[in-house]
Amino acid sequence: MVRYVYDFSEGSRDQAGLLGGKGANLAEMTRLGLPVPPGFTLSTEACRAYLATGTEPEGLAAEVSAHLARVEEETGRRLGQADDPLLVSVRSGARFSMPGMMETILDIGLHDDSVRGLAQASGSERFAWDSYRRLVQMFGSTVMGVDGALFEAELTRLKDERGAPDDVRLDAADLAGLVRTYQELIRRETGEEFPQEPAEQLRRAVRAVFDSWNGERARLYRRREHIPDDLGTAVTVQRMVFGNLGADSGSGVAFTRDPATGRPGLYGDYLPNAQGEDVVAGIRNTVSLADLAGLDPGSHGRLREYMETLERHYRDLCDIEFTIERGKLWMLQTRVGKRTAEAAFAIADELAEEGLITPDEGLARVGGEGLSRLMFPRFDASAAGDPLARGLPASPGAAVGAAVFDSAEAVRRAADGERVVLVRQETTPDDLPGMVAAQAVLTSRGGKTSHAAVVARGMGKVCVCGAEGLLVDTGARRLTTRDGTVLEEGAVLSVDGSAGAVYAGPVPLVDSAVMRYLETGHRDGAASELVGAVARALERADRVRRMEVRANADTPEDAARARGFGAQGIGLCRTEHMFLGERRQLVEDMILARDDAGRERALEALLPLQRRDFAGILEAMDGLPVTIRLLDPPLHEFLPDRTALIARGAAAEARGERPDAHDAELLDAVNRMHEENPMLGLRGVRLGLVVPGLVAMQVRAVAQAVVERVRAGGAPRAEIMVPLVGDVTELRLVRDVVDRVLAEVSEASGVPVECPVGTMIELPRAALTAGRIAEEAEFFSFGTNDLTQTAWGFSRDDVEAAFFSVYLDKGVFPASPFETLDREGVGRLVSIAVEEGRAARPGLKIGVCGEHGGDPDSVHFFHRAGLDYVSCSPFRVPVARLEAGRAAV
Ligand code: ADP
Ligand code: MG
Ligand code: MG
Repeated sequence: MVRYVYDFSEGSRDQAGLLGGKGANLAEMTRLGLPVPPGFTLSTEACRAYLATGTEPEGLAAEVSAHLARVEEETGRRLGQADDPLLVSVRSGARFSMPGMMETILDIGLHDDSVRGLAQASGSERFAWDSYRRLVQMFGSTVMGVDGALFEAELTRLKDERGAPDDVRLDAADLAGLVRTYQELIRRETGEEFPQEPAEQLRRAVRAVFDSWNGERARLYRRREHIPDDLGTAVTVQRMVFGNLGADSGSGVAFTRDPATGRPGLYGDYLPNAQGEDVVAGIRNTVSLADLAGLDPGSHGRLREYMETLERHYRDLCDIEFTIERGKLWMLQTRVGKRTAEAAFAIADELAEEGLITPDEGLARVGGEGLSRLMFPRFDASAAGDPLARGLPASPGAAVGAAVFDSAEAVRRAADGERVVLVRQETTPDDLPGMVAAQAVLTSRGGKTSHAAVVARGMGKVCVCGAEGLLVDTGARRLTTRDGTVLEEGAVLSVDGSAGAVYAGPVPLVDSAVMRYLETGHRDGAASELVGAVARALERADRVRRMEVRANADTPEDAARARGFGAQGIGLCRTEHMFLGERRQLVEDMILARDDAGRERALEALLPLQRRDFAGILEAMDGLPVTIRLLDPPLHEFLPDRTALIARGAAAEARGERPDAHDAELLDAVNRMHEENPMLGLRGVRLGLVVPGLVAMQVRAVAQAVVERVRAGGAPRAEIMVPLVGDVTELRLVRDVVDRVLAEVSEASGVPVECPVGTMIELPRAALTAGRIAEEAEFFSFGTNDLTQTAWGFSRDDVEAAFFSVYLDKGVFPASPFETLDREGVGRLVSIAVEEGRAARPGLKIGVCGEHGGDPDSVHFFHRAGLDYVSCSPFRVPVARLEAGRAAV
């Protein structure tokens, strides 16, 4: 028989798939002997069954009753009994953390009778009515569908009437009145009564949590985080403990280390006399954990001890939710905590140093995306002047944008290409679209664990929160500083998420310490600890990785930079850029030549220029392989624009002049060469076979550059790569030319020139006939950009803007296949080509030179597919080194 419900004592941390992260970790803490209020978890299987049919699966209700009975027995109280009732929370919790995206309902079991029992048993009328009003409010909005703002409006009205700055100032009678108001509101809005039956409350709350898996916020969040839609959420039912029982109670969140920097030490926010959700909601300002040590040293000490236990046990930074009920500390949640890129490197480095984790585990815990974030520039503090306000450095980085005061405006302006900073008092999950659209998030309230901070860190968005010096008026769309400066919507703000500062106007940026290290090898300076951690991670990656990392570079400068970043050669040196600028005229002459002699003259003129280009790059990469690709793009890209020529001719005619003869000739050529689908037209190897002398000129330039470098005492290692081959014959024809030219240059110079000749694999036909092609190719390099275009039939320049957002929304693919390699389709072509290529030519050297070579996920695929190297843009080289290392451990 299928089983759907598990007691905390039955589960463990590695059952997140079944019990959700929250349920699994509550079970783990229970097993560790930490004080966790008793409870049980309905599995994700139950959720999936419910969502598939719309009703609870058979047997679920009976299982829940049996497990509830056990909790009732353990606590000696029944759910919602009239005197001293047991109350429970009903909590969502999916396999992957989705903070605040789904529903949780507290204080289930309260009704018009049990609220009095709770008052009597606790000795606090106020507490009992406060809990009841929270239940009616939460249940009314999440389960019964009443607009949450209506409850908030009533609460605000009451506070105004009483002149109470916050909810703590409301007394028992106020709150009892509020409960009646809320119940009336529910009646009015739904025509239904707030249910008085605890069992009904529980059943409906569970359903609501299941349903919240498909809520709009949750779906948006999953899409962004690439979390599959079919996992479902688990539901945890747990005995309530109360942080709102007075001054000796409270609720908090804590990290075992600073999640922004990774520095060790307890770190978090505490709110006295509050229930859990108040802490992150930012309704009142929290105090620090150091303050908790003053308020309740016993609990603070135990908290420290438990957190140390957790960090040792999980061997990683953990975050927790806790509640203190009249001096007794309860643990309500833990998980391996989210962190900034900086903290990820620092923590992995330190734990490995301590021996708590192995160096390979440390490597697995950092990532290329994080590294690339650390390579971003930061604000130039010396040029910044005085900040407008200071807040908490919640998520690092620097961002400049126009201030906007609500999510919709952020989305609107971002859609127009404007960079915006979302400014709010505090954010709620409803602000998510605006946060996605903004460059940075700025709030005037809330701690480092507030919604804004947690979500921004998860997204890698810049965030400053709790900037209390700012008065944010969302209604009037402006903010006011302490000294009375007023900024209206649209004013430019610079937000420094690393320092927690906000500036008016744009602040200039400076390079990062990590970038400086990568460029110069310097490890000291302000961020030397971080730089050291990054350096050690890269060293580890270099030691363990199997794949080499090369760079795509077309100039000596780029080649030198790439080499500094650790590139082990050039995987793609494009030659088309070398045909632009003032050389365009020569190319034009070559294309327009009326006869062989004319064309040869043009090629002759291009030869020394190309030779110089290649010599420069070979010098910058001396001793390392440089893969030079023969000319690839359609020739008409080098000719003037057709429409412009036509317009010029028409204008001349209108003036009664004869069109310029050269223009007419050009237009003729342009017309002749016009292609409807140039990317599928005369380009790549096809050009080389159609334009006489072109391949020979390029190869001669390469060979002569090699000779020049050898004579200069260098160790040039040029490789010649043929683009867009679809059939082995194309490659063979080019090879004949290459072999002849190399022999000629060797003969003439007396320096033997040997260049391996290989091909790009960027057409499905090439991948599928790779065995044949390998007979003529000494290496393969996957051109995954074109391979993706041709495998999908996507024109990259057209589809991305036209409909990719729709495809992403509809889940056709989780990420653009031009960013992350489509393993299923394009990846299959890669695998086939690797297998058949190596079968035909054992030891065939194979790499990739498309954009995917610098994409973390794709790098892992290429490692598994057996590639020898990846090649990517110079700035992605450190990312690729790191990820190639991570793929190997
Ligand atoms: P989320 O996933 O959004 O954090 P949680 O299920 O963790 O939702 O619950 C929201 C808040 O309610 C948290 O602060 C949590 O600590 C608190 N809470 C949940 N269950 C209980 C309980 N049994 N007793 C006291 N507080 C609880
Ligand atoms: Mg939580
Ligand atoms: Mg290509």
